[in-house]
Amino acid sequence: MMLLSMLKCKCPKCRKGHLFINSNPYIINMLSKMPKNCEVCGQPTEPEPGFYFGAMYVSYALGVAMFAFLFVLVEFILKIGGYHFMWIYSLVMLLLWPVVFRASRVVYIYTFVKYNAAANLRSSTATITKKL
Ligand SMILES: [Zn+2]
Repeated sequence: MMLLSMLKCKCPKCRKGHLFINSNPYIINMLSKMPKNCEVCGQPTEPEPGFYFGAMYVSYALGVAMFAFLFVLVEFILKIGGYHFMWIYSLVMLLLWPVVFRASRVVYIYTFVKYNAAANLRSSTATITKKL
């Protein structure tokens, strides 16, 4: 379930609220725009100033993992080989960089903010009490 929430870019604490204002990473001017707090549980999306500098390491690791995966795919399974691999890798990275950018932020915040099932219960009981 955690992986599904990460793929959907949901808040790590309640797994209901959205981490990004626009869900489409290819709208480049909205790529890094996050709400200040989760709309469901109030978890700050940037726990401290400069929090996402550490996401660069995650981004690097994802880049290396993609390199290894593509290398095996191109060299050993598709058997294209040679310098074509660098063109294919460059093209894939060019097309996927917004996704990698967001994925690294999501992985980074999920390593520091733990899931709290009561976080979304609290907000739903708050709405019920407001209604009463
Ligand atoms: Zn939340």
